[in-house]
Amino acid sequence: MANIKHLGEFGLIERFRSQLKTRSPRVIKGIGDDCAVFSSKQDTLQLISTDALVESVHFDLKTISAEQLGRKALTVNISDIAAMGGTPYLAVISLGLPQSTSTRFLDEFYSGLQSVCKDYKIELAGGDTVASPQQLFINISILGEARKDRVFTRTGARPGNQIFVTGTLADSAMGLQLLKTRKIKSVSSKHCRALIQKHLEPIPRIKESTLLAKSKLQVTSMIDLSDGLVQDLSHLCGNDKLGAELYEAKLPFSQALKNVCQQKEYDPTDWVLQGGEDYELLFTIRQEDVKKLNSLFLKADAPVSHIGEITSFPGKLVLNKINGRKKFLKASTGFNHFKRSQRS
Ligand SMILES: [Mg+2]
Repeated sequence: MANIKHLGEFGLIERFRSQLKTRSPRVIKGIGDDCAVFSSKQDTLQLISTDALVESVHFDLKTISAEQLGRKALTVNISDIAAMGGTPYLAVISLGLPQSTSTRFLDEFYSGLQSVCKDYKIELAGGDTVASPQQLFINISILGEARKDRVFTRTGARPGNQIFVTGTLADSAMGLQLLKTRKIKSVSSKHCRALIQKHLEPIPRIKESTLLAKSKLQVTSMIDLSDGLVQDLSHLCGNDKLGAELYEAKLPFSQALKNVCQQKEYDPTDWVLQGGEDYELLFTIRQEDVKKLNSLFLKADAPVSHIGEITSFPGKLVLNKINGRKKFLKASTGFNHFKRSQRS
């Protein structure tokens, strides 16, 4: 099979350029020059974020296809722009490729990148490709923009603010668990497949983030969930400056997660609290905006759950259980089998 040794550096750049076509009028110089050149819009703030993925640490080529990897590598970056209320528009990529990488793998990887670029109108305007002695390495940097008064940050939550989260939680973590413990071919149930899909092909919450950014609602803090609900919630609490109360009955579970937890005798609440790689948006708003928020999301057919409230008790994260008891949660503890390095 043809591999990148035969292409050489210029062949690689040409392949990259031919598959990722320039489409944004804002990009004056794309792939092929020393820098990409682009213009920014007036009255916006620019957002920039970068994320590295290393084979065997962040992904396993036995369980993810090249195309899915291309999609996911860009998606997790888009999610960071969404987390701040921004719109992504440009990205650059660096790849560390083992010499044995096949051109077919590369083409499929580009095709995954390309499809996400198309979905979210992002231009891949350049990057770098280097040889890696053993494992595949991907780093993407992404640019986005937001209106000057509509950048949402992790800091700003106040006691009494209400906590919301988009979508359902822990599907991705359970999908990863299924991938690790079973051979993919034997995963036949509809629910298992849905969970694995959520892990391999997450969807960034750009629609929901834009909905918030375009509204007049005061979003007091926001983060995208990459390290699990409890851990990421503790960031919105200023780590230990504020506390939070969560309501077990309000936590968003998918039917697929419930079903698999029932089969395996897991507690779905534990999974939802610790999760990981959900890429949902967790945010806080003022109590008086709750009705408006709910009707905004309902009208847009966007899934959102009102899961709790910020309190003034430093570092105290409390779960109000369905059985009436209270459980104190620790931000630092998680399931070790899917504990992973912290991401931005
Ligand atoms: Mg993030």
